[in-house]
Amino acid sequence: MNTLVVCPKCEKLNRVALEKAASAAAICGSCKTELPLHDGVQDLSSNTLSKLLRNSDRPVVVDFWAEWCGPCKAFAPTYKAAAQELGADFVFSKVNTEKFPDASQSFQIRGIPTLIVFKNGKEVDRQSGAMPLPMLKEYLSRWK
Ligand SMILES: [Zn+2]
Repeated sequence: MNTLVVCPKCEKLNRVALEKAASAAAICGSCKTELPLHDGVQDLSSNTLSKLLRNSDRPVVVDFWAEWCGPCKAFAPTYKAAAQELGADFVFSKVNTEKFPDASQSFQIRGIPTLIVFKNGKEVDRQSGAMPLPMLKEYLSRWK
């Protein structure tokens, strides 16, 4: 099972085996920068988000969150658990809305956490508020 990870430095799209990434840090094949992949979920910037949306071979799920947001933090383990189970069908990612307000502005994020599902680079659905794991999996299964 692999996922696509965009390098924060050179923006190369890396194919990373999730099994391998669980035990060792994933490294960019081009510039050797450590990739921001944590338990199957990658951190994106505004730039790497657009790059991923243009190039992903499968649907992309983005969790828009912030450090100060309690519900976002509570949702993080659930999101990671979903990434472990559904990593073959989706690319799981998150955007820190405080660090990248331009991303949250261009997608008109009103409240966090907000989850957006993109297919072929286009938004197909969004959901605000945290969900328990079974509900999240059920929600995502529609967009495989
Ligand atoms: Zn790189």
